[in-house]
Amino acid sequence: MICQKCGVEAPTKYVAFYQNIGALVMRFSQTIEGNLCKSCVHGTFWKFTLINCTLGWWGMISLIVTPFFILNNVFRYVFCLGMEPVPFDAIEPELTDHDIERLDPHTDDLISQLNAGDDIELIAEDIAMKAGVTEGQVVLYVQALIAASEDAED
Ligand SMILES: [Zn+2]
Repeated sequence: MICQKCGVEAPTKYVAFYQNIGALVMRFSQTIEGNLCKSCVHGTFWKFTLINCTLGWWGMISLIVTPFFILNNVFRYVFCLGMEPVPFDAIEPELTDHDIERLDPHTDDLISQLNAGDDIELIAEDIAMKAGVTEGQVVLYVQALIAASEDAED
């Protein structure tokens, strides 16, 4: 719902992409893991693939791990091809006082659904519809509730 790389509210999918740079006796690897929008999946895949294919191979371990990284990335990427694209008007969600006022009456409902262990995506969809906000705003509201309860425990 909220891309963990660029922060826009758009359909996301959980992915893990790996990049390796071989430097003969050393190697540098990088991972991007999280719920990403289609634009970030696409951008990360091609950037990592380019680096893996050109700089990935230089070293004994690199020679062994890089093919696995490439295979993993291709597999993950193919799995994401059917994703909904990022809406052209997608923005980073914000939570204004007005949105909080609209969400407030649904807090008990929200907490009981969270405690029941329901899928956050389904909960966000349900609460967003009831409160007239976006799903991303529900997620921000949940994060704010969690932060507030952690502050209260200190
Ligand atoms: Zn993104």
